[in-house]
Amino acid sequence: MDFTLSPEQTQIREMVAEFVDEEIVPVAGEIDHEDEFPRDLVSEMADLGLMGMPFPEEYGGAGLDYHSYALGLEEISRGSGGLGTVVAAHISLAGNMIYEFGDEDQKEEYLTPLAEGADIGAFALSEAGAGSDVPAMETTATLEDGEYVVDGGKLWISNGSVADTVILFAKTDPEAGNRGISSFIVRPEEDDGFYVEGTEEKLGDKGCPTAELRFDGLRLPEERRLGDEGRGFVQALKTLNGGRITIAARGVGIARAAFEEARAYAGEREQFGQPIGEFQSIKHKLADMDTKIQAAKLLMHKAADNKIRGEDYIKEAAQAKLYASEVSREVANEGIQIHGGYGYTKDFPAERFYRDAKLNEIYEGTSEVLRNTIGDQLLE
Ligand SMILES: Cc1cc2nc3c(=O)[nH]c(=O)nc-3n(C[C@H](O)[C@H](O)[C@H](O)COP(=O)(O)OP(=O)(O)OC[C@H]3O[C@@H](n4cnc5c(N)ncnc54)[C@H](O)[C@@H]3O)c2cc1C
Repeated sequence: MDFTLSPEQTQIREMVAEFVDEEIVPVAGEIDHEDEFPRDLVSEMADLGLMGMPFPEEYGGAGLDYHSYALGLEEISRGSGGLGTVVAAHISLAGNMIYEFGDEDQKEEYLTPLAEGADIGAFALSEAGAGSDVPAMETTATLEDGEYVVDGGKLWISNGSVADTVILFAKTDPEAGNRGISSFIVRPEEDDGFYVEGTEEKLGDKGCPTAELRFDGLRLPEERRLGDEGRGFVQALKTLNGGRITIAARGVGIARAAFEEARAYAGEREQFGQPIGEFQSIKHKLADMDTKIQAAKLLMHKAADNKIRGEDYIKEAAQAKLYASEVSREVANEGIQIHGGYGYTKDFPAERFYRDAKLNEIYEGTSEVLRNTIGDQLLE
């Protein structure tokens, strides 16, 4: 058992950390306030290879192992939770669907620009009536004269209003339940019948647009289907499984940011003639916060390790995501508490960390659904 990062992993982490400290941290408050997609920052990240971290170099990626990718996403999320979602949805969900299930032509044409960061990706699975209950989706894709005609809509799609490539799930056989779902590559700029209905006003996760999409007679050539008809549900589950490792990384990153801010504040703020960090209650809070973060990190790397080794990692990824998400919210909550009244204001970023952390418990499998997954795995 070796817990040491390789020289390459250390180098990646340091490179991303430096970029985050210099380019993201100084503007994170502004991103949160403006809630605009930070296109320039995303271009800079693309130049550093951060928009295609785990994909092979032949497809425009950086060819990093999954530990390095998780470390990179952890650092990005330490700077901005919204940017963490931008990158996770783009790589772990959209890009990965094409990498895992696309044919060579699809990879060359659609994955390469995603991995290079020239295009932005989105993953459109959820609908108004189908969040946890994916097979309840109502969007249909009907084959007519060699083209699929898509009608319906999607809700809460990260990057949905800015994406060049959207991975869309629709029912090709509405009578077949989860075996009747297929996945498609959609190009919003090229394909008629794709509409962005608007973006959500959210508690946090600012800078990552969360869009409502509508499809009205959207026509897609057959060669835009990913894999066989009826495989979409299994593809989505496999993709979300890998994605959970990076959402765990987002949780760890936000928790680290909240912890560092609180630790610094505990050393500076004086009450009763001494820094508040000298009160045992504050010291214990910091001790618990760091202990939970370290445990969450280990679960994240354990899941990444199983994935790299080609072992089953459904339970490990669910545990990493579940635990890191709850730790992230708990640590951010204690961060506010340590800041006292200042923590409840926008004068300090403590409240932003809390708002950003909360989302982790909802998307890519709610904490309740993940407990079902872990329980099922334990009793299998
Ligand atoms: C900011 C944001 C970004 C998102 N990005 C994307 C994206 O890029 N692509 C995408 O496709 N989706 C995205 N989503 C959607 C997200 O994945 C869903 O919101 C999530 O899966 C939960 O679905 P729901 O909101 O319909 O809640 P529901 O499924 O209605 O759940 C409501 C409550 O019931 C509980 N519940 C539901 N079923 C069960 C069960 N079987 N057992 C126990 N409890 C249960 C849930 O845990 C929750 O507490 C995003 C959501 C948000 C808020």
